[in-house]
Amino acid sequence: MIPEPAWRRALDLIGKADEIALACHVSPDGDALGSMLATGSVLRAQGKRVVASFGDRQFDVPRLLRFLPGQDLLVPPADFPAEPELMITFDSSTPDRLGLLGPNTAKAHEVIVVDHHLSNTGFGTLSLIDPHVAATAVLAEQLIYRLGGSLDRDIATCLYAGLVTDTGSFRHASTTPEVHQMAARLVATGLRTDEIARELWDRSPFGYLKVLAAALERASLEDGLIWTYVPRVDRAAYGLPYTELEGLIDIVRRTDEAEVAVVLKEDDQGAWQASSRSKGAVDVGAICAVLGGGGHHNAAGFTSHLSVEDTIAAFRALLPSRDGEA
Ligand code: AMP
Ligand code: MN
Ligand code: MN
Repeated sequence: MIPEPAWRRALDLIGKADEIALACHVSPDGDALGSMLATGSVLRAQGKRVVASFGDRQFDVPRLLRFLPGQDLLVPPADFPAEPELMITFDSSTPDRLGLLGPNTAKAHEVIVVDHHLSNTGFGTLSLIDPHVAATAVLAEQLIYRLGGSLDRDIATCLYAGLVTDTGSFRHASTTPEVHQMAARLVATGLRTDEIARELWDRSPFGYLKVLAAALERASLEDGLIWTYVPRVDRAAYGLPYTELEGLIDIVRRTDEAEVAVVLKEDDQGAWQASSRSKGAVDVGAICAVLGGGGHHNAAGFTSHLSVEDTIAAFRALLPSRDGEA
């Protein structure tokens, strides 16, 4: 629960600011971008000057999120105010996760951090952080409600994208009664759950099938760990952007024989972006934190500049042994 005085201070800071600069984590997912665009649309409707961005070197909205309304708020990181009067960050546990916009948090006069990562370092001047909620979108909805903003279908679409993404379509353990109640409020605005689901999960370019096939062919199952990797040349052959690989981990992690899944995806700069998932006791968030990344108990990631083999070896070395010893 976020204490009432924190909410009051947030409303106070927002009330006083003329220009508000919003940022979410790099390679944004539905929760990061959806929470930011929903909040930004409400703030703009209330007469604020609003810009929104994320700090990727290559500033492209992932194809599967291009259906989200409110993207006219977006500016490339180069046009983001260097010293914002008020900055609000979404779904980012550290300034690092903001990429190019990380340093702006140090220069902003005030920074409100809206997030649900347990590992959040509290880098803002005001924290609206609740690790018990399923998505940052839950907190964005509360902020919008407190701002007196109304949930129209476009804003609800953004929040819904955050909620379904982070709960894995209402499958993860984070799917509480409150999550379904929030979903009911959002769906009541008339949004199209079928169209959102298709945009997020049920379409991809033909090249994805080929890249997927190669990734599955390469998969190794070793001692309860399933892992595979996608070098950038595989994607290049089909002109497939990095962001198209987001769903790959969800296919790999279904393996019955594995407790933990890892997918290494080589980005356009040649770094390996690791996605990991755990089915139960193994805390991949803690493992990824040791490797310089972070995340949640069951879903986490990190960036590696080592080879594939060395990256997996480093990850494996941090796994508890299967007979239960640390
Ligand atoms: P992903 O595997 O990309 O879907 O990421 C799963 C979760 O891991 C995200 O929700 C983030 O919380 C976290 N995460 C992924 N990559 C990183 C990273 N490089 N650094 C910190 N946290 C990360
Ligand atoms: Mn996220
Ligand atoms: Mn999230």
